[in-house]
Amino acid sequence: MRHEAAFMRDDDALIAFLAERLGGVFTRGDRVAIKLHMGEPGNKYFIAAPLAKRVVDCVAALGAKPFIFDSPVVYSSPRSDERRYLAAAAAHGYSKKALGCTVAVSNGSSSAKGSHMTYRICKDLLKADGVLLLTHVKGHVACGMGGAIKNVGMGCVAKETKGAIHEGGEPVYAEGCTRCGACAENCPTGNIALDPAGPRFGVTWCPGCSNCVLVCPAQCIRPRVAAFDELLAESAAIAHGRFKKSYSVNVLRNISKFCDCMSNPGPLIAKDIGFVCADHMVAADAATLEVIAKETGREDIFAEQHKHSPWGHVRAAARFADVDTAVAVKEI
Ligand code: SF4
Ligand code: SF4
Repeated sequence: MRHEAAFMRDDDALIAFLAERLGGVFTRGDRVAIKLHMGEPGNKYFIAAPLAKRVVDCVAALGAKPFIFDSPVVYSSPRSDERRYLAAAAAHGYSKKALGCTVAVSNGSSSAKGSHMTYRICKDLLKADGVLLLTHVKGHVACGMGGAIKNVGMGCVAKETKGAIHEGGEPVYAEGCTRCGACAENCPTGNIALDPAGPRFGVTWCPGCSNCVLVCPAQCIRPRVAAFDELLAESAAIAHGRFKKSYSVNVLRNISKFCDCMSNPGPLIAKDIGFVCADHMVAADAATLEVIAKETGREDIFAEQHKHSPWGHVRAAARFADVDTAVAVKEI
């Protein structure tokens, strides 16, 4: 089935569109989780709290009960702890006082078995009557782009699952290296040295992107569990499939090279474009990639930066969720 997505360039057009569209998704009395990333301390490109407040007000105007939600991270950061994440969020303007709704951070989760591993999905999102994915679109070192699928597959799961996905995509060398150099050339972090006996990992750091696995012509590197795109996509499809209702809003502004988890997210890699809205995370991300390509005149700005096209995880998520990546984009 061909999905539809709406594209608009400014805040007022977004809010006017959501005021009408969300009434067809959420109903009076629904507890609606607005899932977003409130920004690593030092990062300045996360979704600005005043914009989130306008979306909160839009949901509240339906008679629904919105709350802001995110899960803690697995790496060393104030955001790895629920209490300290709330303090960091408040410093970024995300507080009950500023937004008029609860701001929640929780690692509480329920298990769901997938084909590659068991994923722990955030309970607050499973218990909510609906989830509104409010996603800042930016580059990501492991999957090319952090969009709606990444917001679900990594953002809606407990930190133990976040760690397992990254570790699951890490490389394991078997044998048969021809020393062609493709793995080292395509490693985004410079983590691979070529020794006479084959690739040596651990030069810098490894986010488990699986680029080396995917490009090795001799197929002598395998991922610990499965390629990062596969794990992220399966996690996202399972979580998204368990939400009672959902809607996706992608914010195509401050499109930085690296994600909101970085205190220094690097340079902006495209101009501000606007917003893409869709009824499924896959449609939102597929439409986002189409809109960015059209607006920038560049085929894949994320592959340029990270040697990893986001289409890998978008197509994998479509397969796991059994939906199409074909999307009709209409500018509002
Ligand atoms: S998984 Fe990615 S980051 Fe890790 S060694 Fe391979 S290419 Fe480099
Ligand atoms: S891509 Fe494969 S064959 Fe080529 S150097 Fe790396 S491990 Fe060896």
